[in-house]
Amino acid sequence: MARTRPDLARLIALGTGVCALAAVTMVVPAAADAPAPATPRSETGNATEWSYSGDTGPAYWGSLDPDWALCADGSMQSPIDIVDPAPKPLKNPVFRYVKSTATVVDTGHTVEGVADDFVRPSFLRIGSEEFRLKQFHFHAPSEHTINGKSYPLELHFVHSDESGRIAVVGLFVKEGAPAGRAWRPFLRKLTSHVDEADDRQITALDWPALLPQDKRTIRYSGSLTTPGCSEGVRWNLLTATITMSSAQIARFTREYEGNRRPLQPLNGRSVTIDATRGS
Ligand SMILES: [Zn+2]
Repeated sequence: MARTRPDLARLIALGTGVCALAAVTMVVPAAADAPAPATPRSETGNATEWSYSGDTGPAYWGSLDPDWALCADGSMQSPIDIVDPAPKPLKNPVFRYVKSTATVVDTGHTVEGVADDFVRPSFLRIGSEEFRLKQFHFHAPSEHTINGKSYPLELHFVHSDESGRIAVVGLFVKEGAPAGRAWRPFLRKLTSHVDEADDRQITALDWPALLPQDKRTIRYSGSLTTPGCSEGVRWNLLTATITMSSAQIARFTREYEGNRRPLQPLNGRSVTIDATRGS
């Protein structure tokens, strides 16, 4: 069973550093509203090729396409190293997730589970703002770090509102006990598939059960971690982590490994941690 590690906040308070952090919200570009891509492309829908290494790697994203200038020039970019987040009396985000089918898609940079939300959408409420769940995907190893520590996987649950604003919930995965039962349908699709970029498979996901019980988050304002690096993304990293077995983690890394953007400068941004339990 997946074990949650709700103690990140305490560990940070104790200055012990490393530990279980989990989710962050990350952003997905405007494409979050669009159907899952059938071929590799940027999350903005741009067809310019990019990668995580070489001459189309992160150091060059900003010059590969005029629409991606923020990747080089932005001042509120993601991911970042999380150090000493300031306690703030905010209630935890409220996850109104429901079970639904999902389409598993290889984007060419990660594998996504796209929520089929036409019947019963899932929502994320942050304060008075409400965002609709679009998809989740993974990075291996994690993009965000906690006091310099990375995790084997970071899952990004991407949401957007009707204005196209993006909120991403980040969830860190540690190696340990096997993942909870809710993860099995997605893991089965990962093992059975994804050689072709246009490979799509449908599965049923118990979205609420994919997340840890503890919904405390670390929050900051950042960007998409893929081109075009759009800013204004509300990041919510869960302080609780989940575990997966080494074999389960290997199912992810067999598809993609090294698909993380390097850390970006904080540039004085405030990073807070929920000081009030929510909902
Ligand atoms: Zn991501």
